[in-house]
Amino acid sequence: MASDGCQPVAWAGKGGFSYLLHKPESREGESYRTPGHGHGQEAEAGPGPSSSGRDRTGTWNGPAPRGYQVEPMHCQDESRVQANKPVNDPPHVLLPGGTKMPLLGLGTYKLQSAEAVKKALELGYRHIDCATIYGNEKTVGEGLKDFIAEGRRDELFIVSKVWQDAHRPEALRKSVQQSIADLDCGRLDLCLVHWPEAWLPGTEEPDTEVTLQQTWQAMEALVDDGLATHIGVSNFSLRQIEEVLSYARHKPVVNQVELHPLLAQRKLVGVCLRKGVHSVAYSPLGHTGQGSEVLGHPAVAEVAAETGKSPAQVLLKWNVQRGVAVIPKAGSEPHLAENIEGLFGWRLTWDQKAKLDALDQGKHFVNNSWHAWEDPEEGGAAKPSLVLQ
Ligand code: NAP
Repeated sequence: MASDGCQPVAWAGKGGFSYLLHKPESREGESYRTPGHGHGQEAEAGPGPSSSGRDRTGTWNGPAPRGYQVEPMHCQDESRVQANKPVNDPPHVLLPGGTKMPLLGLGTYKLQSAEAVKKALELGYRHIDCATIYGNEKTVGEGLKDFIAEGRRDELFIVSKVWQDAHRPEALRKSVQQSIADLDCGRLDLCLVHWPEAWLPGTEEPDTEVTLQQTWQAMEALVDDGLATHIGVSNFSLRQIEEVLSYARHKPVVNQVELHPLLAQRKLVGVCLRKGVHSVAYSPLGHTGQGSEVLGHPAVAEVAAETGKSPAQVLLKWNVQRGVAVIPKAGSEPHLAENIEGLFGWRLTWDQKAKLDALDQGKHFVNNSWHAWEDPEEGGAAKPSLVLQ
C-alpha cells in the first residue's frame, strides 16, 4: 500500500522534492508525523516517510504534488509495475491499541434487509458502517444477532455516527446508547461525529450553544466509559481535524469522507495519515452505483478490462491500495460478493493507478445545502499541491 494520499512514494531517499519544504526548521520531538500514531499502518504499509532523519530534512516525502506526472521509471520497486502480480496486502489497518479496522466495510445507508447483513457476514465482511440517521440500526442489529450469539462479537468492527441534533453532551450519550441498544452489540468499535455542524435538538437549526470542543469531550467520555473503543469524525476538513487534535485527550482515529477517483482529496488523506487519522471512503462507487459517473467512467472501464476485474473492484482497489478503507453499500448478494472477492491479492499497476489518479476533479456527489466544503488547501503544515499550480 502507498502510505500517502495518492501514488506510492517513489522519490523517498532520492532527494525527493527538496524544494517543497514542509518542515525546514523542525526540531527533535516536533516531527510532522505525530509520534505514537499510525505506527501499525506504517509497519504494514512498507516504504513511506519515516520518523528518522528524513522527516527533519525538509524534503517533502508525501503525496505527489498535483500536476506532477509520475513516470514508471521513478518507481524504486519494479514489482509495483508488474501487472496482476499476486500480493499479500493486509486486509486491515491498525488503530492505536492494536485494534484491526478491516479495509472493507459494509455501508448500510438505505440497506433495508437483515438478510443482506447476514449474507455479508457469511461472505466475510466484519466492518459494518451504520448511523443513527439511516434509521435502520434495528434492522442491521437483526442481521448481526446470530453471529453475535455465537460468541463472535469480537470479530466485528461496528461503527455508528452521531447525528447533528445530538452534539450536546447529554444528547450525544443518549444517541450512542440508543444505537448500541438497536444494534444490540454491547459497545461500538468506532463512533463518529457525522458532520461538523451542530443543530438544535430535533431541528435543522444551527445550535450555537454547543462548541465542537464540548462535543469532542462528550465523545471522549464514551471511550472512558466503554461505550466506544475508538472515536472519530466524518466530513471534517483538515482544518477542523487539526482543531480537534489541538485539544483532544483521545484523538480521532478516523475521518470518514467521500473518496473515489473523481474526488481523491489527496492532501486531506495524506496529511491526516501522518497525524494518525485514517481515512475511510464513503460512496467509493460514486454514491448511486449503476449509472454513477464514477462506476461508469470510461477510464475505469479501461482499467477493468486490462485487469480482468469489474469497475467496482477497480474503484475499491484504487482506495485500498493507498491505505484507505472502503465501505461500499451493497444490497444484493452478487454485489456483496463482487466487492469482497475482488479486493485483495492483486494490485493496480503504477500506470493503471496513475490513469485513475488523473480523473480527480474535486467532485462531491454527496452535497447538503447546510454544509459548505472548505478549501481543500486549508490546514496542514505543507501545501505541495499549491506549489506547482
Ligand atoms: P456507494 O457505496 O458508492 O454506492 C452504493 C450503490 O452501489 C448502490 O446502489 C449499490 O447497489 C451499488 N453497488 C454496490 N456494489 C456494486 C457493484 N459491485 N457493482 C455495481 N453497483 C454496485 O454509495 P453510498 O451508499 O453513498 O456509500 C456507501 C456507504 O458510505 C453508505 O452506505 C454509508 O454507510 C456511508 N456513507 C456515509 C456518509 C457520511 O456522511 N459519513 C455519506 C454517504 C455514505 P445495490 O444496493 O443494489 O447493491
